[in-house]
Amino acid sequence: MKKPVLVVGGAGYIGSHTCMILAQRGYQPIVFDNLCNGHEEFVRWGVLEVGDVRDTRRVEQVIEKHRPLAILHFAALIEVGQSLADPLSFYDNNVIGSLNLLRAAIAGGVNYFVFSSTCATYGLPQSERLDESHRQVPINPYGRTKWIVEQALKDYSELLNIKAVILRYFNAAGADFEGRIGEWHQPETHAIPIAIEAALGRRTGFKIFGTDYQTRDGTCVRDYVHVLDLADAHVRAVDYLLAGGETEAINLGTGTGTTVKELLNTIRAVSGRAFPVEETSRRAGDSTSLVADNTKAATLLGWQPQYSIEDIVKSAWNWHTRHNAP
Ligand code: UDP
Repeated sequence: MKKPVLVVGGAGYIGSHTCMILAQRGYQPIVFDNLCNGHEEFVRWGVLEVGDVRDTRRVEQVIEKHRPLAILHFAALIEVGQSLADPLSFYDNNVIGSLNLLRAAIAGGVNYFVFSSTCATYGLPQSERLDESHRQVPINPYGRTKWIVEQALKDYSELLNIKAVILRYFNAAGADFEGRIGEWHQPETHAIPIAIEAALGRRTGFKIFGTDYQTRDGTCVRDYVHVLDLADAHVRAVDYLLAGGETEAINLGTGTGTTVKELLNTIRAVSGRAFPVEETSRRAGDSTSLVADNTKAATLLGWQPQYSIEDIVKSAWNWHTRHNAP
C-alpha cells in the first residue's frame, strides 16, 4: 500500500518533480493546486484535486477524503519583483494560505509538514556560505512572507502537535531528464530559462543585470541546485518526519557558486549556440552572492546533491527544446 501525502502546489515546477520521486519511493501523491501557476499536464504521478489553499472548506474536504500522512506545501507566489508591485497578493497567498492550510492540517490530524522556504529569508549575506543560523532579515515582501510562515511553524511545533521541516532553497533549476516536466513560468524572470530561450532564438538576447559586483568576474554568484536534488530532499524530509524527526530548518544548495557569466558560458557550451548578450545595470533587490552551507542537509537527511551546473543546463536545454511555452 502506497502512503498518501498531500502535495499542495504539486502541479508547479518543484512540486511536480517531487511527486515523481515520491511515487518512486512508495508514496501516493495527492496534488492540491489551484492551477494559477501550475500545469495540469504536470500531474502525472498522482491524482489532482483542484482547489485554493485559502479555501478552508475545500482543504478540509480533501484532507478528510485522502487522509494524508504528511503535507508538502509548495504553493506560493515566488517572483520578487511581483512581490514589490503587489504585496497584497503575496501576503494573501503565501501567509494566509499557509496558515489556513496548517489550521486544516491540525483539525484533520495531519501533524507532519514540509514547507518550501528560501534563502531569500536571509536577506543580505554576511558570509560567503550561508548556514541556517545566519541572521534572517529578508529584504523584500516575498522573503518576508516566507519568513513569517517559518515563525508560525516554529511556534506551532513548540505549542501544538506539529513537526515541520522548513527547506530553504537556493536557486532551483534544471528539469526531469526525460523532458516531461520542467521550468515553465509566465512571465519568466529566471536566468537559466531566459538564456536558453535566447540560445533557441525565441528571445532577442540575454541582459546581464550588473557587471560591477565584487565577485570574480563582476557578475552575481548563485548556487544553482537541480530540481531533482530538491525533490529527493523533500522525500527524505517526509521520511525523517515519519521516523520521529524534530522540527528543523534546512538549506538546500550545492555549496558551489556560479557567476552569471560562467552560467552563460555553460549554456553556450551545452547548446553549441551563440546568442546576443548585453551588459546592463543591476536589478533591484539582487544580492551579490548566495551560496549554501549544506552540511545540515547531509547530517539530518543524508542528502548530497548529485547534479552539477552542466547537468542542470543539459536537462533544462532538453526540456526547453521539447517545450515551447506560449
Ligand atoms: N539575471 C540576469 N539576467 C536575467 C535574469 C537574471 O543577469 O535576465 C541574473 C540575476 O541578476 C541574478 C542571477 O541571474 O544575479 C539569477 O537570477 P534569477 O532571477 O534566476 O534568480 P534569483 O537569484 O533572483 O532568485
